[in-house]
Amino acid sequence: MAVNSGTAALHSALFAAGIGPGDEVITTPLTFVATAAAVVHCGARPIFADIQSDGFNIDPEKIKAKIRRRTKAVIAVHFAGEPCDIRRIRSICKSNGLSLIEDAAHALGAVYRGKPVGSTGDLTTFSFHPVKHITTAEGGMITTQNPEWDRRMRMFRNHGMTADARQRVQTRSWKYDVLFPAFNYRLSDICAALGESQLAKLPVFLRKRKRIADEYRKRLREVDEIQLPADPREPDSAHAWHLFVIRILSKDVGLRDRIFERMRHRGIGVNVHYPPLHLLTCFRRRFGFKPGQFPNAERTFRQSISLPIFPAMTSADIDRVVAELKRSLVT
Ligand SMILES: *Cc1c(COP(=O)(O)O)cnc(C)c1O
Repeated sequence: MAVNSGTAALHSALFAAGIGPGDEVITTPLTFVATAAAVVHCGARPIFADIQSDGFNIDPEKIKAKIRRRTKAVIAVHFAGEPCDIRRIRSICKSNGLSLIEDAAHALGAVYRGKPVGSTGDLTTFSFHPVKHITTAEGGMITTQNPEWDRRMRMFRNHGMTADARQRVQTRSWKYDVLFPAFNYRLSDICAALGESQLAKLPVFLRKRKRIADEYRKRLREVDEIQLPADPREPDSAHAWHLFVIRILSKDVGLRDRIFERMRHRGIGVNVHYPPLHLLTCFRRRFGFKPGQFPNAERTFRQSISLPIFPAMTSADIDRVVAELKRSLVT
């Protein structure tokens, strides 16, 4: 079901799962703010579970440790486009009666154990913001196999109304009821048309992103200070390469920032994904989080730099990024 942003998709999915005031939702601290903000929009409390010590995704065992009486759902983020350990997370959710929402804003086209991310499971959300794999200018989507959740989300995106404008025309009736106050989260027809043409290009976009990731990994393999992102460990799985995040392994704690500044200064569009959410004023103030609570996310954040990756990138672009990165490690 289409909506007008990835944030609206998360909010709708949480609504479908029945998340409300007093509930707790477990998610990763290493994600974009929208993941946890959507929980707050429902009146619920985000509970963070740290990422794995040797990866970017939420640690299933840490999820388990955070489950309490009020826990209702888990939001698993497929960071950078690498599928989470969904089998393990799904089994934890199942045995504890929790809904599982997959935030696949980075993972359109990712494959987990032979199946595209979003084609299995409870609720999966996507974003079509311009930086993501495909765009509708702004937009998002939720996939689910549950017809009741689908029905609720269709009302949620349209003011809680029991019939939308098209249905009222078809039934030749003005009649509708409003079951709950909701939002205008509809995706416009113009944006949807753009989305359809973009979707046709997705296979090419994915192939180009993978080619760039492979090229970076080939070219940077021998650099000691750099830890490169890996392919998914599960069989028959594929990374969607929304981001290419390298880690700078050095005792020199200022090195990441210096590399970042040097590369930006030389015109390379590097970035940092993300400042962990528990360190942001919004969540510290409201929920009392403190530095040091999620050491794996904090360390990964301090070491990480995202290199440019986009389908139109040429071999010459890759050459230049690699050369400037190597140069930035020293001066
Ligand atoms: C982009 C993004 C979102 C939000 O999507 P918008 O379309 O910008 O609202 C949510 N979660 C993650 C992980 C994202 O990267």
